[in-house]
Amino acid sequence: MSYVDEVLERVREKNASEPEFLQAVTEVLNSLRPVIDANEEVYRREALLERLCEPDRQFKFRVPWVDDKGQVQVNTGYRVQFNNSIGPYKGGLRLHPSVNIGIIKFLGFEQIFKNSLTGLPIGGGKGGSDFDPKGKSDREVMAFCQSFMTELCKYIGADTDVPAGDIGTGAREIGYMFGQYKKIRGLYEGVLTGKGLSYGGSLARTEATGYGLLYLTEEMLKCNGHDIKGKTVCVSGSGNVAIYATQKAQQLGAKVVTVSDSTGWVYDPEGIDVALLKEVKEVKRARLTEYAAARPSAEYHEGRGVWSIKCDVALPCATQNELLLDDAKQLVANGCIAVAEGANMPTTLEATEYLQKNNVLFAPGKAANAGGVATSALEMSQNSERLSWTFEEVDAKLQNIMVNIFHNLDDAAKRYNMEGDYVAGANIAGFEKVADAMLAQGV
Ligand code: GLU
Repeated sequence: MSYVDEVLERVREKNASEPEFLQAVTEVLNSLRPVIDANEEVYRREALLERLCEPDRQFKFRVPWVDDKGQVQVNTGYRVQFNNSIGPYKGGLRLHPSVNIGIIKFLGFEQIFKNSLTGLPIGGGKGGSDFDPKGKSDREVMAFCQSFMTELCKYIGADTDVPAGDIGTGAREIGYMFGQYKKIRGLYEGVLTGKGLSYGGSLARTEATGYGLLYLTEEMLKCNGHDIKGKTVCVSGSGNVAIYATQKAQQLGAKVVTVSDSTGWVYDPEGIDVALLKEVKEVKRARLTEYAAARPSAEYHEGRGVWSIKCDVALPCATQNELLLDDAKQLVANGCIAVAEGANMPTTLEATEYLQKNNVLFAPGKAANAGGVATSALEMSQNSERLSWTFEEVDAKLQNIMVNIFHNLDDAAKRYNMEGDYVAGANIAGFEKVADAMLAQGV
């Protein structure tokens, strides 16, 4: 049996109750086969894959807080420190009722390769809680964040582990958590990224994931003889990634015709009105029904359906496993030429395979959405030198990073005779640096 198959079998046995984690490991290890086969003896002796698939450590803790009625609520908090061979653990905090250890492990595992791809010195980690900020008052969110950080602060630090935002964790949550960290640890340091501009945040961090997604998509299209200008784009989601992906797509001359949230989706053939979307989602924290009510050209539909709309480019920016095989079939039938993942693992394994087999350019999330964490690393640099760079400076660096990521994964795929397979290219390019560092540092 090959080394990859052996490890996959062991990982499946050990983590049977964590389907998302297994999905991520299966996808990564399968596409690394050519690299691993070529180095099988060393990797096997060093148990490199076993070490890669097992987090350095994982924390699970109780998060009690008091709601507005005076009732004590209890949530579960997590932080998985996966791999720090190329830099301090780095990765977001997801606040969503679906969060469990398997989800955090899948996200932490993906983060290792994503962070490596940025070319910056950051390791992989992830955390979060099953707390749902939706419908909670500001005071309740503050109470939760303070309690969450009261425990988390024991495990993190500017040079050890630097959390950030993810689904459910935005500027408001980061602010409350930063305040609590400072109060308990007495340290004013860059322990979190995605901070507000008044207290150490970086310009362009808010926009970075969405903008970066478009910079990479633009480069991928260009290198394959297409122009983003004039393209029709379907976006799913309406959170931070979706909003700034929509904005940048439109700045580059494309037309975005859909967005979605957890209960429904909008089709707006005139093109999504970003200012209105921001008002509804960022200011009012309301549902997309409000967008549709204020915009005569928009149709609102309950349920899911974004991928049934004809488009040239599809940008899944909502959450994991939201683009299924049937959706992939519909996209192909409608002439879609490219899919780039703004979310983490939004496309199922079978949907990805179908798209690739049908010659749809496919950029995996760990490359396409790496602009967020890359700009987090730029925020860390600015904090370390106690300076802040201009928006233009950060944005130019981000653009450069995304273009480099695309060429790195394109080159990696070519080196292993898999030209155009950007999934394999991303995994290989991300893996090579981490594997090299792990081997160099010993057991
Ligand atoms: N949550 C984002 C991601 O999935 C950003 C993480 C960060 O900035 O550390 O990459």
